Amino acid sequence: MEEALKALGEFCFPSVCLVCEQDTDGAPICDRCLSSIQPIERNFCQLCGQPLQRKRRSYLCAECVRKPLSLTRIRAWARFTHPLDKLVYVFKYSRFSRLAGYFSRHLTPIIRSDGLLSTAGAIVPIPLHPVKSWWRGYNQSAILGRAISADTGIPMTNILKRRRMTRTQTRLIPRQRRANVSGAFALRSRIDPSTIKGRRLILLDDVVTSGSTLDAAAEVLLDAGAEAVYGLTIGGAWIER
Ligand SMILES: [Zn+2]
Ligand SMILES: [Zn+2]
Repeated sequence: MEEALKALGEFCFPSVCLVCEQDTDGAPICDRCLSSIQPIERNFCQLCGQPLQRKRRSYLCAECVRKPLSLTRIRAWARFTHPLDKLVYVFKYSRFSRLAGYFSRHLTPIIRSDGLLSTAGAIVPIPLHPVKSWWRGYNQSAILGRAISADTGIPMTNILKRRRMTRTQTRLIPRQRRANVSGAFALRSRIDPSTIKGRRLILLDDVVTSGSTLDAAAEVLLDAGAEAVYGLTIGGAWIER
């Protein structure tokens, strides 16, 4: 029996940690690597989700006070540092779709416990540009969205498309970042307006950095009549926007 269970576990995940390759009991990462992941559970900016300095009394970070986003709230599971960055990389580039269920188990409690995200009527994955998804054959946000939808019962709806290629945001200065993603998204053709109008939507991406990408996508949904747009990501590595 034990052997059969072990074989089943190996079918679900190779029994090695995807980060350090130590043996595990079938989990995608070992307990030691998991303990290095830093979840963002309290004392974070109520708008962009980034951890706040202890002494800050406000509920918002200085940047959100200065330059609010069009999203109502962004939540990220954990800081995008080692080993989470490696795990997300594996998810993005190795077509390791079984990691979607693992990430969903960490993101679903965030949706359920958040006063805003829990009211959402649909999950909208951030689309990849067709050229990129052709090359990868895989949109990790949509695969993650499907897993979260199964766990939360919130339907996923694929209503956005990329209009053009954008450059990787991290190497750009703030002004370039906004210009880089401005107009990058549009509604897919033949979208029923009632799927958006008056509804609260969760935009799903793998990592939030400046928030400009989520913001550009949120603007399309808000223009189409969405009541509110929230953001949800696996990791957060906040940089100036
Ligand atoms: Zn490990
Ligand atoms: Zn903020």
